[in-house]
Amino acid sequence: MYPITIFRSGAPAMEFSQYDVNKLMYITNRPPIVFVEGDGMWLTDNNGKRYLDYLQGWAVNCLGHSPQCIHDALVSQSKKLINPSPAFYNEPSIELAKLLTDNSCFDRVFFANSGAEANEGAFKLARKWGKINKNAAGENRYEIITFDHSFHGRTIAAMSASGKAGWDTIFAPQVPGFSKAILNDIASVEKLITDKTVAVMLEPVQGEGGVIPATREFMQALRALTKKHNILLIVDEVQTGMGRCGTLFAYQLSGIEPDIMTLGKGIGGGVPLAALLAKEEIAVFEAGDQGGTYNGNPVMTAVGSAVAKTLLAPGFLQSVQEKGDYLSKELIKLSDKHGLAGERGEGLLRALKLGRDIGPQIVEIARDLAPVGLLLNSPRPDLLRFMPSLNVTKEELDQMLSMLSNVLDKIGR
Ligand SMILES: *Cc1c(COP(=O)(O)O)cnc(C)c1O
Repeated sequence: MYPITIFRSGAPAMEFSQYDVNKLMYITNRPPIVFVEGDGMWLTDNNGKRYLDYLQGWAVNCLGHSPQCIHDALVSQSKKLINPSPAFYNEPSIELAKLLTDNSCFDRVFFANSGAEANEGAFKLARKWGKINKNAAGENRYEIITFDHSFHGRTIAAMSASGKAGWDTIFAPQVPGFSKAILNDIASVEKLITDKTVAVMLEPVQGEGGVIPATREFMQALRALTKKHNILLIVDEVQTGMGRCGTLFAYQLSGIEPDIMTLGKGIGGGVPLAALLAKEEIAVFEAGDQGGTYNGNPVMTAVGSAVAKTLLAPGFLQSVQEKGDYLSKELIKLSDKHGLAGERGEGLLRALKLGRDIGPQIVEIARDLAPVGLLLNSPRPDLLRFMPSLNVTKEELDQMLSMLSNVLDKIGR
């Protein structure tokens, strides 16, 4: 059906029906294709059909599919040392912790395997701090204020922290101690503060919620409010961190310093790696409070170092900002041309507002384009989200914009 690519691996094309996909537990509807190879902004499926990939593992592959620096780090570290156990120090985790603290306002790092796990660590650290820094009545503080439409991951506590519609009931009962304010509405936060409140936690740009940035003013007001009440400010930068928004971390856009930050997704460039960072005076875990079998694993942290060094190379973050500005400008043109509702975002985390619920239709048509497909994400039916690799080229941006324009022509107004 499609021009058959010679796979780099030399493998023959496979019919979808030859795979027994039903041994995998059902968790979501997936299209009947199996991805076999990836290279930069491109994915190749079992038929040899190529796709321009604007998902990149959900803003994970910050350097695209299978970049050389990750391959090299995996090979050289796995030859040297794979797992001494988290009970001992290892070199790559020490190196990556230094890179992250040298380039942020934080002093201490705990490495985890996923964004949700890093957030669990943030809840635990905040509650521990609230046990030491009690309220006037001498009671532990443990309540964390989060936001409507926020997304913090899929463990029970992370789901309880999330403000995603319906998530309060799916696996009820929830973990208590999370209340929900309205993003960019400082009065809504102030109203929820009680003498048990220990922290406010937010994504600087709500990713899954539909690429909704917290304004600079709101971030600054939150910092002032939390300082005034001796409450911690936690930023979940699992999606926004590691260069995605044009600065290494998105909190830097508003010139504030949070107390705790979590990282995931881009930090590993595609491998399972996440991190919990805190200021020295907040890093109050005692022996036995926190841990995990694979945490700080040298193979994953070696990859993290290779990724971080690439992002920190002179000019790299500047180029993310420039490409973000270019994408923004071109999405506005596209919106005008097709009568859509504009765009929003920071850096290379952007959304096109469609004005009507055609997102899922666009995603399907774009994927099925021939001879090459386009992979897009529609986190809400009236929105498309763009999460290219941070080293995407201008040509790859133009190619996506022209393919998307064709899809919009097909759908009509
Ligand atoms: C993806 C995401 C998470 C969860 O990360 P996992 O690695 O899937 O557990 C948490 N917070 C934000 C903001 C995210 O985008």
